[in-house]
Amino acid sequence: MEQVLAGIVERDPEQREFHQTVREFLISVRPVLEHHPEFRQLAVLERLAEPERMVIFRVPWMDDQGEVHVNRGYRVEMSSAIGPYKGGLRFHPSVNLSIIKFLAFEQVFKNSLTTMPLGGAKGGADFDPKGRSDTEVMRFCQAFMAELFRHIGEDTDVPAGDIGVGSREIGYLFGMYKKLQNKFTGVLTGKGLAWGGSLIRPEATGYGVVYFAAEMLALRGETVAGKRWLVSGSGNVAQFTVEKILHLGGTVLTMSDSSGHIYDEEGIDAAKLAFVKELKNVRRGRIGEYCERYPRAVHVPVDPTLDWNPLWRHQADGAVPAATQNEINNKDALHMVEGGVRLVCEGANMPSTPEAIGIFRDHNVLFGPSKAANAGGVAVSGLEMAQDSMRLSWSREEVDARLHAIIRNIHRTCLDAASTYGREGDYLAGANMASFIKVASAMLDQGLV
Ligand code: NDP
Repeated sequence: MEQVLAGIVERDPEQREFHQTVREFLISVRPVLEHHPEFRQLAVLERLAEPERMVIFRVPWMDDQGEVHVNRGYRVEMSSAIGPYKGGLRFHPSVNLSIIKFLAFEQVFKNSLTTMPLGGAKGGADFDPKGRSDTEVMRFCQAFMAELFRHIGEDTDVPAGDIGVGSREIGYLFGMYKKLQNKFTGVLTGKGLAWGGSLIRPEATGYGVVYFAAEMLALRGETVAGKRWLVSGSGNVAQFTVEKILHLGGTVLTMSDSSGHIYDEEGIDAAKLAFVKELKNVRRGRIGEYCERYPRAVHVPVDPTLDWNPLWRHQADGAVPAATQNEINNKDALHMVEGGVRLVCEGANMPSTPEAIGIFRDHNVLFGPSKAANAGGVAVSGLEMAQDSMRLSWSREEVDARLHAIIRNIHRTCLDAASTYGREGDYLAGANMASFIKVASAMLDQGLV
């Protein structure tokens, strides 16, 4: 395994996020390899860590002043072992090949856990939609799809949203794909309800994270109700995480964006959450505006001189990081433990550094890893694909019930795999091992391709 990792690092020495995710994965699946020597003999790990295909392309577009910009677009098709490639698109200035490869690698195993026939991919661009007009975003999406369209398709690769790609962007991307291909298909998920989308898809990731947290708590005879929660982010995942915590009777104290966080001692209730949704999804404002509307709350701007995030220092019982990767480091993790946090359930992808995860483990903090806990989003994307294929749509209750059942099943799968391989109660190891066995077995069945 050390050799495998050394080979990956040597080949792409600058891809730190990708190395981080592969390293964590390799450590977890060691017990599986001992029971399955055929996985080693047939170089399954080496094959899994090398994408089946990577596309990098130029995205030229014109802003409202007539100035031309050139961004870089990516699609990393990591594995099609168990289904067509599937995974979101991220538009954020930090996007690079390392980040897209790490996300695509995670996606392969997350999708396997959903029990749906979905391979893994991820894509995006180093484009920043913040401060751009709707027409600029539309032109960017059209330019992006003008290249991406030839690599995707409803049975080949089905992208969805991620950071910076919500329902507005999916609409523009879908419109351009349809025009170029002259086909109305389920090539993207997260579509509008009137044109092939699924009920509960916007809610799915956040709701699923809270369902997962509730399952973890139930094993300790506890519930979400009555607990105080720290949530980071204020985008899609954060908004619906807060909504479901409120449904289940919990209190949410914080939300954030890249400019800082707000702390509301009285709790973010349904009316305040509606304000955040309007602020973020319609007016596209900054989270600090929450305190102009609710002056008893406090806004804490980002302090670039700190190497820890004050959001994680508030006293609470549970935490859901729902912004971005590596947003909880070892200092943050220690602050959380000191502040009383007994459960961390990851809404974002890889938000906790390996050192932070070690601290949670040492302090017996229940830890729900992203590839299991946030799989509800892609699971309902899979349900959207099924509805598109049938030309039917299910009710809100039906999709929510299916989501809930899928999350319960993932939770059970993680625990069972962990206990089979002597890692009782370790959700991270269980998620990696269970998903790996399925993907690796499919690869062996299909030969060296
Ligand atoms: P959104 O773009 O809707 O929201 C992202 C939020 O995180 C915003 O509040 C944003 O603030 C904040 N954020 C993003 N980057 C940074 C950063 N570098 N530093 C601080 N804050 C940051 O994205 P989503 O809610 O869709 O995604 C959030 C996370 O959840 C990501 O890790 C994503 O991969 C993961 N995820 C999303 C799924 C989905 O269905 N959407 C499914 C599974 C995982 P600002 O606006 O200031 O940038």
